[in-house]
Amino acid sequence: MARVPFALGLFLLAAVGARAADTPGSGPPVRGLFIAAPSPGRVDEFVKFIDEELAPRGVNTLILGVNYEYQFASRSEMADPHGLSKGDVAKLVASCRKAKIHLIPQINLLGHQSWADHLGRLLSVHPELDETPWVKLAPNVKWPNPDRLYCKSYCPRHPQVHEIVFPLIDEICDAFESDAFHAGLDEVFYLGEEKCPRCGKADKAELFADEVKAIRDRLASKNRKLWIWGDRLLDGDTTGLGEWEASTNQTSRAIDLVPKDIIICDWHYEQAAPTPSLFALKGLSVVACPWRKSDVALRQLRDMQDIRGQSPAPTRDRLLGVMQTSWNGCDSFLDEFYGRKKPAATEKPRRPRGSEVECFKALADAWKSKPSS
Ligand SMILES: [Zn+2]
Repeated sequence: MARVPFALGLFLLAAVGARAADTPGSGPPVRGLFIAAPSPGRVDEFVKFIDEELAPRGVNTLILGVNYEYQFASRSEMADPHGLSKGDVAKLVASCRKAKIHLIPQINLLGHQSWADHLGRLLSVHPELDETPWVKLAPNVKWPNPDRLYCKSYCPRHPQVHEIVFPLIDEICDAFESDAFHAGLDEVFYLGEEKCPRCGKADKAELFADEVKAIRDRLASKNRKLWIWGDRLLDGDTTGLGEWEASTNQTSRAIDLVPKDIIICDWHYEQAAPTPSLFALKGLSVVACPWRKSDVALRQLRDMQDIRGQSPAPTRDRLLGVMQTSWNGCDSFLDEFYGRKKPAATEKPRRPRGSEVECFKALADAWKSKPSS
């Protein structure tokens, strides 16, 4: 397998807005963990986790799901008084800087603005941004349902939506001192709805790509890079990947419309689909993302390194690495990691069984034992 010279590894990381260096003998350039941000009361414990567990395992990229659980000052109506403070975030920043871990905050934009039974903060405070105001939330709504209600979206063409969310992006990136931001953008089921007066007749792929470009441009104006989940850019029918980890709502052509300097987090939890190659060949940088199945994670790592090893440099350099995902909450992850609880029960039938903590440990063991690629 071809080795990437140390200097080139540094260049690759610079190209994706990463600050941490690629250490020879420690796996692919990006070795990541995505997890919900800790609650304020557990920040100190999480800092210890960064120092004692993430750094020694070679993690060099940490994406924290913050969403609206932050004491925002730029839009005071969006402030969560019980959310992270600037001081809390400063502790995380200092810890990651010391550990040479690239720290990236996430706020879910466009989709994931509710669950079936409750709104998220953005649509609670600004209901005028709701793409589907006629869809009523209710307890015990199961999927599938007549409204196709999974999560609500904001309307990307509402004239005020960017005035509201862009200052939040700027503020959270400033607090995290980050040169990158993850905007979510996964599982956007409500988009360009027929009854929306602004975008009902629009092409959904163009709508999605326009929103990606708007967010990307805002970040680029401050020398920051955009990371997103990749599912809306994959054709769920042609690939057979279906409507969750790929798109069946006409957004997949956006893969050819989005800016090429974004980073795709390509999540597949039950099989190591060969989609990182698709993204890389389309000119998009990509990170493969597993969840609870160690065998899938190890295959994704192996595929990433194999394909990097046999690809011409421009393609290889876009195949960045692997990032473990955690979806059971930061507290749950820490409790399981430190043996205070058993693996969380599977909450949704469509999600595979397994342990995200065990998967992460297996993945980190594997990238530490593999040569740098
Ligand atoms: Zn709309």
